[in-house]
Amino acid sequence: NKQIVLKHYVNGFPKESHMLINDSATINLKLPEGSNAVLVKNLYLSCDPYMRGRMSESKESYVDSFTPGSPITGYGVAKVIDSGHSNFKKGDLVWGGTGWEEYSIINAPETLFKIEHTDVPLSYYTGILGMPGMTAYAGFYEICAPEKGEYVFVSAASGAVGQLVGQFAKLSGCYVVGSAGTKEKVDLLKNKFGYDEAFNYKEEQDLDATLKRYFPNGIDIYFENVGGKMLEAVLSNMRVNGRISACGMISQYNLEQGDGVRNLFHIITKSIRMQGFIVTQYYHLYPKYMEMIIPLIKQGKICYIEDTVEELESAPAALVGLFSGRNVGKQVVVVARE
Ligand code: NDP
Repeated sequence: NKQIVLKHYVNGFPKESHMLINDSATINLKLPEGSNAVLVKNLYLSCDPYMRGRMSESKESYVDSFTPGSPITGYGVAKVIDSGHSNFKKGDLVWGGTGWEEYSIINAPETLFKIEHTDVPLSYYTGILGMPGMTAYAGFYEICAPEKGEYVFVSAASGAVGQLVGQFAKLSGCYVVGSAGTKEKVDLLKNKFGYDEAFNYKEEQDLDATLKRYFPNGIDIYFENVGGKMLEAVLSNMRVNGRISACGMISQYNLEQGDGVRNLFHIITKSIRMQGFIVTQYYHLYPKYMEMIIPLIKQGKICYIEDTVEELESAPAALVGLFSGRNVGKQVVVVARE
């Protein structure tokens, strides 16, 4: 049972060398009598920015740290091989928390979601039909309550979450601008995801002036994925009664001490509501989200781009790549296709 193991806790930027491949682990492909667990074969693994927090020893994150010497854990799509739990049977497809290994024993199977729609790519359950999809849905609709004609700005706009927020904003009749870190991503934002405008934040000297150029009337809704200097510039450009969905702050995840953010006073003077959230708090809305998103996918009204690497061995580089913007779209690792 090949595994990807965290060698030790990480300071600063994560590197491939912080993880290793363990070829020598074994697993019994039959659960012991009386077990309530589920044994799965992992098919697709998801690389997500929050996993960086789990590589640190610090207890500040909202999820537990990984255990050095043990396989990394994260979201994935898997097939049930053996089940001691009445909700699951051999052959079922599931998504949820699993291990970075070929086979995993899931001791809390009630946290898994059973996959019912299989006429869409299975890997979508690491993205648009899984945790990042729910993040875009809850963070945009529940937190920002968008209205037609509003001005929306999205950072890390071409990623797993951002590409969906932009498309949701268009479906809601908003004007939407996105930022991303390469020309290729900026082109995708405008030509594939339907953003009205997009820019490469790495080429802009003065983000405040950039935002004034794209939003001469100001921003109603900011979907925050990056934090730091971008948040600072956004705060000066928000409109009265603006909403900020504080989803993530990836520019801060590898810093020992976060950047101090200036311009917070605008929150008061413009009556801005800035709200953070953790997607798992909204999982009760998953059935409602599926009712909305499945028809949109089937009717071709929404698209989803994935960046897929083959084989478990590629997972460490893929995970690390999130922090240099190497991924174009949702980063997925294919462990097995069936
Ligand atoms: P992405 O697929 O967007 O991948 C991360 C992207 O972030 C990179 O491709 C890169 O794109 C960008 N990035 C990396 N470093 C920086 C930096 N220093 N400054 C600016 N941009 C940077 O990731 P996700 O869509 O999965 O996640 C987006 C955000 O949502 C993250 O902050 C994540 O933590 C958060 N999140 C929060 C959840 C919650 O429950 N609150 C749940 C899921 C995600 P580029 O080339 O554009 O720089």
